[in-house]
Amino acid sequence: MQQSELQNLDFALCEVCGAYCTAYTVDSGSRIDFCVSCTSHGEIVRILESNRDYFTMQAAAAARLESIETRAVTLSGIDFRVNRSPKAVVLELTDDCDLTCSTCIAGSFSGAGNYKSLADLQEMMKFARAQSEASTSLMISGGEPTMHPDLEQVIESAYSLEFHSVILISNGKRLAEENGFARRLKRSFPDLEIFLQFDSMNPDVLTEIRGTDLSLLRASALHALAEAELFTTLVCVVTSGQSTREIGGVIEEFSVVPTVRGINLQPLRVSGRHDNDELGVDCAPSTGELLLELERQVQFVKSGDIIPHPGSPWTVSFGYWDRSNNFASLTEPVIREFDPGHSMPLFANPTFGGHDLFRVAVVTYLDRFCLRTSVTAVDPIFIVTKNLHLLPLDLYYMFGEPQGVRLAAPLRRAQ
Ligand code: SF4
Repeated sequence: MQQSELQNLDFALCEVCGAYCTAYTVDSGSRIDFCVSCTSHGEIVRILESNRDYFTMQAAAAARLESIETRAVTLSGIDFRVNRSPKAVVLELTDDCDLTCSTCIAGSFSGAGNYKSLADLQEMMKFARAQSEASTSLMISGGEPTMHPDLEQVIESAYSLEFHSVILISNGKRLAEENGFARRLKRSFPDLEIFLQFDSMNPDVLTEIRGTDLSLLRASALHALAEAELFTTLVCVVTSGQSTREIGGVIEEFSVVPTVRGINLQPLRVSGRHDNDELGVDCAPSTGELLLELERQVQFVKSGDIIPHPGSPWTVSFGYWDRSNNFASLTEPVIREFDPGHSMPLFANPTFGGHDLFRVAVVTYLDRFCLRTSVTAVDPIFIVTKNLHLLPLDLYYMFGEPQGVRLAAPLRRAQ
């Protein structure tokens, strides 16, 4: 490689052996490449972002974040700098789940157990809240959190701790199958937002992502949420191919459902049960590539409507539209209102005039193919563990806790 091609020095993992290596982002003209130099496996070059213009926007937004406060964390012997102020904290109630998705980053399955006690969960929430800021959301997750017997007490405790917003992440099975469950949640917690695992209504796409056709389950869960008037975000894992080609149809169809306040798109990452060498880094589009697809497929999405989140530019991109005004873009005015002091919430729709905001976000997690230490320093989504560690979620899924409870997949393979 010529010195003139070098852009930014970074650090990353060798995707073959998991060694910690120097790395560079390289501007190749029309795209951005990522070059990892491993002393054992040589130079490995991957496309980091095929939409060079979008990468430039992310880099400009990241440059404005220089004052961000970080702290040191050592995981599997590697020193990382991580954000001091999480924007969202994930609380896992259990590892158990009533589905076994082929792409589960938590590796959950039926019978996995590990139900945490209410007392432990309350202690974890208190710890997380003490290290959060006013705009931090709590994301109640699993496994499948609706299987936990104390779910409603956990939600109540979360509200009493005054997180900015409380989000329940669910596969929708209990919401679809238990008559009155969604209505009870709405009665007890009127502001609760459900992140409903959704992906697609196409059986083929669902089978590719989840290992089975869940379209009827999705439809029933969405019906129960709409009938109960529970705020909902549809969470769609996106893979390359058919899933990407059809994602615009999902956005157009469900953006007009009044209780659906947003759609989060998550390009598939090689992590958890999906840690599989065959699909590798090409299994999902880059953020910029996905945004170009949305501009092509969704009538109301125009170039520049979806931008890097000012507090998390590398991993979260988002846009807002006004449903009460023919889906006119409101991204810029919303940012102007909330950006000072990085108070922009990560996912919740902020109160903004009398507008009916609809949100599209693209959320990318790091895996062993795209980990960059410059990104981990501003990673916004954390997990709180039973041992009271607060760690970036994607680093936790790669490395486990500082004591090395869960080893990174590439390190496991190297042993
Ligand atoms: S992705 Fe969610 S629903 Fe699927 S197995 Fe994992 S925890 Fe369960």
